[in-house]
Amino acid sequence: MADIHKSGNWSFVEPPFKDGDVVEGGNYSQLLPDTEICKTVKRLTIMGGNFTNCKLQPGWKVTGGNWTQIDRCSHLHPEWIERGLPKCRANCMHRSPSPDTAELDEPEVSRRMRKSEPLPGLSSEIVVDKYGIDQIRRTVQEYVYRETARG
Ligand SMILES: [Zn+2]
Repeated sequence: MADIHKSGNWSFVEPPFKDGDVVEGGNYSQLLPDTEICKTVKRLTIMGGNFTNCKLQPGWKVTGGNWTQIDRCSHLHPEWIERGLPKCRANCMHRSPSPDTAELDEPEVSRRMRKSEPLPGLSSEIVVDKYGIDQIRRTVQEYVYRETARG
């Protein structure tokens, strides 16, 4: 019997779709662009859900959902290297062409100070957050890694 999938997190794994199922929501995002999921499922209706980096199979009827394709950066997601994300070199495609303003949180500033790691152009300013509370915003000038969607 066909199922209606409305929620659930099947990120980085094979979703439990069967022929005739309808997908209205849920997270099915995959690690690498154009990842084929549920190759044996020929008839599927997808009305919503997060299908980032999933490859659309012929015969699937799609009227919604997020089908963004993103080349992930291992500098931003080092925890995904063991799950199969290729390790980026230092000057990978995700790196800004020149040093840019990068915001550092307090633990990162403390960590770098403890390890005598560089904090190029360290600057601190007081900013008021959305609750009206003063916060210290610390920035450095260094290369920044960003992910952008394909297309
Ligand atoms: Zn990268």
